Amino acid sequence: MRTMPAPSDDPARTTSSRDQEAIFPLIVTIDGPAGTGKSTVAQRVAERLGLMVLDTGAMYRAAALLVIRLGTDPSDGVAIAAAIETHSMEVDFTADPPTLQLDGHDPGEELRSREVEAIVSIVAAQPEVRQRLVAVQRAIAASHPHLVTEGRDQGSVVFPDAQARFYLTASSEIRAKRRVDQLRRKGQSPDPVEIRNGIEARDRLDAGRSDAPLTRPIGAIEIDTDELSLDEVVDRMIQSIPTRGGRS
Ligand code: C5P
Repeated sequence: MRTMPAPSDDPARTTSSRDQEAIFPLIVTIDGPAGTGKSTVAQRVAERLGLMVLDTGAMYRAAALLVIRLGTDPSDGVAIAAAIETHSMEVDFTADPPTLQLDGHDPGEELRSREVEAIVSIVAAQPEVRQRLVAVQRAIAASHPHLVTEGRDQGSVVFPDAQARFYLTASSEIRAKRRVDQLRRKGQSPDPVEIRNGIEARDRLDAGRSDAPLTRPIGAIEIDTDELSLDEVVDRMIQSIPTRGGRS
């Protein structure tokens, strides 16, 4: 797996939308279960502080898509890790937000298909797959040390020394409702019960696996998003991130 260089690794590229100057290097981690708003919050925090976003869930989803395309067993970690090596999987930081390219193409909505959702947590539980993708994530942070990175293990395993680490939570009811609303906005007619069951099944697999389970990283700031708007969540996070001229 290769990563494309950031075209403008110059943090000034988002100066117009930035409200504080970040101190570099700055790694901000956001972990939490599905539907807590991690992706949107990560993008807004990154925009306000002039950072880049790394969506690590997209990497595990791309690995799951490879499994489907190749007909590999989703629990065969060795075979999947080998497939990740031989197929090109790149993060295109020239896109806003950055996109994952699999074999030179952005899989787009395919990464969010039912088929991918059904197996992604099985694929992500394989230690060989995690080892491979964690190495890629650390390499990206080493060459672009101004990142908001979101996933399940970013503050606990991948970047335990990050300058700011957050853990977002919300009830499964609210998380399922947010996902249903999101799909309806895209013109789909999701079954709310199926969506909630799927989210809870993924939570169980993600929290129950032996390698890097979903957990609140020790020392991370936990934010319960049930009663908060996205802007409120973002404001709370910005207040806790060390920035030049910032509030912490
Ligand atoms: O965040 P997203 O829903 O796209 O993640 C998809 C799946 O990828 C998660 O349910 C989890 O199984 C896996 N994942 C992971 N570690 C990460 C990010 C995602 O295991 N850092």
